[in-house]
Amino acid sequence: MKPENYFDNAATTPVDPRVIREMLPFLETNWGNASSIHGWGREAMHGVDQARQRVATLIHAADPSQIAFTSGATESNNWVLDWARRSNAGGPQSGLAVSPFEHSAMLEPAARAGAEMLESRDLMLLGKSDSYFFVSIMAVNNEIGTEFEPGDFRDNTEFLHSDKTQVVGKLGYGLDPLDFASFSAHKFYGPKGIGGLYVRDPQTLSPFILGGEQEGGLRGGTLNVPGIVGMGAAAAIAQDEWQGNLAETQEMRAIVLEAIRPCSDYQINGGENVSPYILSVSFKDLEGETIVIEMDQQGFAISSGAACSSRSTDPSHVLTALKMPTNWLRGTIRISLGAFNTRESAAVLGKSLTETVKRLRNLGIT
Ligand code: PMP
Repeated sequence: MKPENYFDNAATTPVDPRVIREMLPFLETNWGNASSIHGWGREAMHGVDQARQRVATLIHAADPSQIAFTSGATESNNWVLDWARRSNAGGPQSGLAVSPFEHSAMLEPAARAGAEMLESRDLMLLGKSDSYFFVSIMAVNNEIGTEFEPGDFRDNTEFLHSDKTQVVGKLGYGLDPLDFASFSAHKFYGPKGIGGLYVRDPQTLSPFILGGEQEGGLRGGTLNVPGIVGMGAAAAIAQDEWQGNLAETQEMRAIVLEAIRPCSDYQINGGENVSPYILSVSFKDLEGETIVIEMDQQGFAISSGAACSSRSTDPSHVLTALKMPTNWLRGTIRISLGAFNTRESAAVLGKSLTETVKRLRNLGIT
């Protein structure tokens, strides 16, 4: 398996070797509990402090105290949703709402909290002029790459959250209109099981996980120091390299698009404002999973949807919300690019995909 043939970077990215090198001392020698006051503890806390600063810099937070470490975007989303449910007091701006395009890590806690689903027309979110206590709109959709503008909901929303998991470390942005933002390190070349929640005013938030004074009493549990240090290292690398990576990604995307032009009956999903990192393609009357398996046999990793739901046979809620006809919906694949892909591997991927689609169509395998 060649790392440059891994095109499933929206599911997770490879861990950058430079990140691993920065993590290792916190496993081998500086393994202290960051809450301890002795030397081992102070060493660990030093790593945590530096990581918090690096993450704050990357996401343009005004102060490192606005970053709370979590086990990842799923926990961050659950946390903020749980807080919103408990704090929604029924004032002039009341009620919770989320977009129908959210990841299940937002949709499921939102459903349990009784949040309403914003209506949409094609890729447009409606309800901008309604008043809400809390609204969550993801910045980039993980299945089709569409970029959304949470800021459109600022005026009528007391607390605005955005799931920025597919953005942090990859695309530039400001946090200006937001009160909260979620992210995970393993989407930008850091380790898995570590992420964060940006909180504009940490005073407003209450804990979701109880059981310790860590994170200023906001999140109990011994700090995952190697993970936190790894996310900090990934943030520092992204700070220097995201613009170069983005330019290369745009080129690689264009190469894949050019290579698949000979295919018949296909469409590119996601609309006009789409992250170049995510390329969702539907092939009419084919089965996305068959394409994924065929490509796997040729040494390429792509996916037929979100990794978290790819073991389920339910149709994607995102494509369903877009009212895509079933014979197109089922033939959808996702190619997600990253810093370890090359122009050459993008060209070969596109060529192999085109041949695979042609072969499946000739065989009449749908
Ligand atoms: N939100 C989005 C948009 C995602 O793409 C993902 C990961 N697929 C998550 C949340 C969940 O992240 P994690 O599994 O790291 O908690």
